[in-house]
Amino acid sequence: MTRIHAIVPYRESPTGKSRLAPQLPLAARRALAQAMLADVLAALQGARSIEAVWLVGEAPAPGTGGGKVRHLASDEMLNPALGTAARLAFEAGAQGVCVVHADEPLLGSAEIDEFIRCALAEPAPAVSLSPCERRDGTNLLYVPAGVTVRFAFGQGSFEEHQSAYAAEGIAVHPRAPVPDVDTPEDLAALRAALARSPDLAPHTRAALGAGGAAGTMTLPTATEVMSFEHQPAAALAARARARRDAQFGPRITYSRKVFLPVTHLCRDVCHYCTFARTPRRAGAAYMSEEQVLAVARQGAALGCKEALFTLGDRPELRYRVAREELSRLGFASTLAYVTHLARRVLRETGLLPHINAGVMTADEFSSLRGVSASMGLMLESASPRLLERGMPHHGSPDKQPEVRLAAIRRAGEARVPFTSGLLIGIGETRAERLASLLALRDLHGRHGHLQEILIQNFRAKPGTRMAQAPEPSPEELVWSIAAARLVFGPEVSIQAPPNLSQEGDWLDLVAAGLDDLGGISPLTPDFVNPEAPWPQVGRLDEVLRSAGHQLCERLTVYPRFIGERERWLHAGVQSAVLNLADATGLARDDDWRAGISEQPPDPAASFMGRCHAPPAGVDGLLSRLFAEEPLGEGEITALFAARGSALQEVLAAADEVRRSVNGDAVGYVINRNINYTNQCTYHCGFCAFSTGKVALKMRDAPYRLDLDEIAARVVEARERGATEVCLQGGIHPQFTGQSYLDICAAVHAAAPAMHIHAFSPLEVLHGAGTLGLPVKAFLAKLQEAGLSTLPGTAAEILDDEVRAIICPDKLGTREWLDVMADAHSLGLRSTATILYGHVEGPQHWARHLIALRTLQERSGGFTEFVPLPFVAEGAPLYRRGRARPGPTFREAVLMHAVARLVLHPAFQHVQTSWVKMGVAGARLCLSAGADDVGGTLMNESISRAAGGKHGQEFTPARMQALISSAGRIAYQRTTLYRPAVRAEAVYLNVALNEALEEDVGSVAYC
Ligand code: SF4
Repeated sequence: MTRIHAIVPYRESPTGKSRLAPQLPLAARRALAQAMLADVLAALQGARSIEAVWLVGEAPAPGTGGGKVRHLASDEMLNPALGTAARLAFEAGAQGVCVVHADEPLLGSAEIDEFIRCALAEPAPAVSLSPCERRDGTNLLYVPAGVTVRFAFGQGSFEEHQSAYAAEGIAVHPRAPVPDVDTPEDLAALRAALARSPDLAPHTRAALGAGGAAGTMTLPTATEVMSFEHQPAAALAARARARRDAQFGPRITYSRKVFLPVTHLCRDVCHYCTFARTPRRAGAAYMSEEQVLAVARQGAALGCKEALFTLGDRPELRYRVAREELSRLGFASTLAYVTHLARRVLRETGLLPHINAGVMTADEFSSLRGVSASMGLMLESASPRLLERGMPHHGSPDKQPEVRLAAIRRAGEARVPFTSGLLIGIGETRAERLASLLALRDLHGRHGHLQEILIQNFRAKPGTRMAQAPEPSPEELVWSIAAARLVFGPEVSIQAPPNLSQEGDWLDLVAAGLDDLGGISPLTPDFVNPEAPWPQVGRLDEVLRSAGHQLCERLTVYPRFIGERERWLHAGVQSAVLNLADATGLARDDDWRAGISEQPPDPAASFMGRCHAPPAGVDGLLSRLFAEEPLGEGEITALFAARGSALQEVLAAADEVRRSVNGDAVGYVINRNINYTNQCTYHCGFCAFSTGKVALKMRDAPYRLDLDEIAARVVEARERGATEVCLQGGIHPQFTGQSYLDICAAVHAAAPAMHIHAFSPLEVLHGAGTLGLPVKAFLAKLQEAGLSTLPGTAAEILDDEVRAIICPDKLGTREWLDVMADAHSLGLRSTATILYGHVEGPQHWARHLIALRTLQERSGGFTEFVPLPFVAEGAPLYRRGRARPGPTFREAVLMHAVARLVLHPAFQHVQTSWVKMGVAGARLCLSAGADDVGGTLMNESISRAAGGKHGQEFTPARMQALISSAGRIAYQRTTLYRPAVRAEAVYLNVALNEALEEDVGSVAYC
């Protein structure tokens, strides 16, 4: 045993974890502090690297001390007392001390041992330290004998420790963060971890209240899991299936991939493996860069989104030929070569690397994380018995369970979305299989990084030592899948490869609770099981459909991790992931681009979906909507997940509601857009004006139209038959409320009968603020000056979580709604919009619709709802790789339909934007809940600024042709949806002043 002593400071403060006060009363905070200490002491007791523990300060609760723990009660201030503990530890012969805080209940014995192992591996003298999750405080500190132990706590201590030791000339080694519990966010993370693994931190769990305060702890405990051993497969499968259905519904996923076996050389010799080959049989030691890229490019052309790098464990440690080849290629190791290949594949093909490169160090995980979206390492089995002579892992150093579990832990510490799993039927018992699942669950509980558990059945391969070994029965595979589902619950996907089972068994595997079928390649074979060809996706789809399931493509990284991408994905990988992901985090099902694509994707291939599963509860939701029962956030989010026949049901229901409200009439308005300035003091990330245009070299010169020019455009619009002018612009640095009042007055004077549709809530707020007026008073002044209605822009997504990312300096959700409420109370009606398809998810769409519905039920002031799909091309957020490239076509159409259903009967009209959807797309939306195609615009510079290509004018004749082609009756309307005098006859007789048009620049969405 190493002679390391731990020092644990513990002093109850009178206010006890006061930052948790909003969540827990004082007595509960004190109980939590005691409980966390008990769990920390238990972890230290179990850590093999720790010889003794010095608890300094208050005594632990009865029954949690003893063993290695020596309590050092002291009346001294804490720091001198800790100094005393360090002195006593070194006098007792400690080779080093490790300071561990008492509020780190997720720190396990294995984590402590790994920290000490890494610390001792550094050349002395060196200290190692782990920060908290926020990386400002030190949560673990190792100091060797002969070096001063610096006791610093809380914010800034991580930096303080590093600089103080560096100043002494001592090497400092920062390690992975260790979570503590100080803030409400920490407490939420703790609850989530306890929910993932019911065996973690039992004292803390009890203090938080099992099953209550600790979260939804419905997973079986370790004891319960071990009782599965003798339960029949069918019984386990029934329970597992119910759990899967509750979380995933009918959805079964797979990943379309290419398989890149970078090297078949491996230093291990597993007795069942044909992937690993000796140099004599392997041919070239490594795939060349050209070979790898050629396969990846072909895969990308075939619609693949994952590049699976699979290779043997560190072959250079065993084979001279590997060392020589690496040297010739110019790489120090196989992993350095793989890092280089993955970087090229990611950059040059857009495929997302998933890397299975065996056991790796923390540094190797970190560097591969920069070029991959996910990684994997099969545990296979946690049973050391399998390494004994005659067993399949004998002679394979990387198959030692401790080694593999430590690597999987390091992946968690490095925040790598990770795949692991079991290889069943290689000589392990059911009990050992369950213990293996529990070992994985323990790691997942602490780090949350396991995205899927693969249950792979052993297949006996000719030419291996296990060629004659019996394969596990289909029933055993069902039992294992079901056990895995029950052990991990809904958060982790359970996967089994269909190519390793007979087609006739596929539905049994699905019925055992799996929700994923792993990677399937249209190009490359399964090099690990080359005798087992991939199934055709079409055939798999048919079989699944026959049982009511829905086959959907996912990316190599799962939706939860994409949703939390700042934590889980390296910044350099995020943009590639977002380019391929839809709003739910699954693979995009089309290449359609709002504002650019002329045609919708082929409905048969993608938009209407290949999936024909029964609606996932959609029919129940639709009946409630028809009964005018308002749906909540979760239910609306579920409607946005509709695919296949469920999608068709939602679209049909929306069309039905539209017909009942609007009949066959479809309106349009003759209007003109006047964007009076393209200068803006805000920095909205979705707005092409702020920086994107500069990068694209698309940015027009800054301009500001003076009042005469605005008036001239209004007159021109009137002469062409316009009934409305729509005025919006950037927030010009010199604009005050008076500027907006002057614009209104100028327009009104130029054309008194013209409907002035102007000023987003942001402009209203800005104008009111600069004049020192309450918003309502300023709106009244605008009304007096001639303002008729407000555009519902600047709403983007009415959820502050999203606004903090896309427009942090802009008005918040509440302010937008309050401006609209004030306007409506004055009789100023407005439109309502949503800008969707960038960083948000369907839950944010649901919140947006609920916010609009709630206000409309109170004010009745919204005239229509206008979905605006995000046009990504020129937007800074997209160009920085921080946003998706807009919604998919399915999502765009669905937005119209779900909005129609959810906003009914509060909203009478849903408008589709021909500028964003394109003519053919807008026509389809008319069958999905929309009853209006908006304005002719005359000039439209907003979407063009963002990179959109769909023209800037749509004549009345074209409007009418579009509407008629959808089998509907066109009518020209006013802004307030009254029939307008038909004006198309004069429309084109008046030419626009082209000189002025050239000035129209790059104002984006306001
Ligand atoms: S969206 Fe409007 S407020 Fe935001 S940067 Fe663009 S012009 Fe300015």
